Amino acid sequence: MLCLGIESTAHTFGCSVVNSMGKILSDTREVYKAPEGSGIHPREASRHHMELSPDILRNALKLANVTMEDIDIVGYSAGPGLGPCLRVGAVIARTVAGFYKKLLVPVNHALGHIELGAMLTGASDPLVLLVSGGHTMILAFSHSRWRVFGETLDITVGQLLDQFGRALGFASPCGNRIEQLASQSAGKYLQLPYVIKGNDVSFSGLLTAAVKLASHKTELADTCYSLQETAFAMLAEAVERALSFTNKKEMMIVGGVAANKRLAQMLDSVCNRQDAKLFVCPIKFAGDNGAQIAWTALQEYLATKMNVQVEESTVQQSWRLDSVHVSWRR
Ligand code: AMP
Ligand code: MG
Repeated sequence: MLCLGIESTAHTFGCSVVNSMGKILSDTREVYKAPEGSGIHPREASRHHMELSPDILRNALKLANVTMEDIDIVGYSAGPGLGPCLRVGAVIARTVAGFYKKLLVPVNHALGHIELGAMLTGASDPLVLLVSGGHTMILAFSHSRWRVFGETLDITVGQLLDQFGRALGFASPCGNRIEQLASQSAGKYLQLPYVIKGNDVSFSGLLTAAVKLASHKTELADTCYSLQETAFAMLAEAVERALSFTNKKEMMIVGGVAANKRLAQMLDSVCNRQDAKLFVCPIKFAGDNGAQIAWTALQEYLATKMNVQVEESTVQQSWRLDSVHVSWRR
């Protein structure tokens, strides 16, 4: 079977064709770039997606060497995400599925990150750290659902990095630039608030303090280094406790922030102590992409024969992963 996956929850519009063996035949995407110093404007991002979507869709089919006639399933990210952006993906999915009479499968975006990560890394029953622009969650699978073992109480780690970068006038997303700056520090740690409550983390006080620190006469590289060290140590502590509690022998990082080498290094130490194996989603597929949606839609269809009617193909801006029934995992 062949599935066309459409991703449009936030800054990325992506289309991908994936087969039921897990081969990614194409992956085309474009990322909306906000003006320097500002965040995603949902209407501007949706306009970007709308304008580029015909070319991205056409390219995804062309690179996979297929036509719409060859596609069996159209999967689309139905949430959580920004309403105007989600609606662009859903309109395109409904249009092609309706016109070409294809099966239509809505997908939870966070589940997409995990399912594609598991397929690409070979992790079978991992504790998951989902770290992206929209999520900071520690999850483990039990009784048909991904259960939350810790999460952020306010902003996500992606928002922490992006909002810190934007305060300095960088263009969003800023995680990569902050990682590069941090690597130039000689390892001079500047004190920042470390907030962990139970197994949940809180980043908003850290953001305020880091922005304040950057406005003083400190080396920017040292501030970026200290910000990363503090935020990632909080995540590592919560992950270590969850690993110990769940006794999972695998740990997987997914989401855009999984591209960060320092985070992977810290989690590697945690896994060594807890006798678990670390799996890191390949950088190319760590951030938002159509393949995560296509692969998850295929799993859903093969397990449940899900096929929603166009009239029922809604989007949900808020759609928690732990409310999604996953029938194909044990
Ligand atoms: P996603 O929402 O999954 O597409 O992830 C986007 C988030 O990943 C943004 O907040 C980026 O700043 C962040 N990100 C991307 N690359 C890196 C990196 N190398 N280090 C830290 N964060 C990153
Ligand atoms: Mg994402």
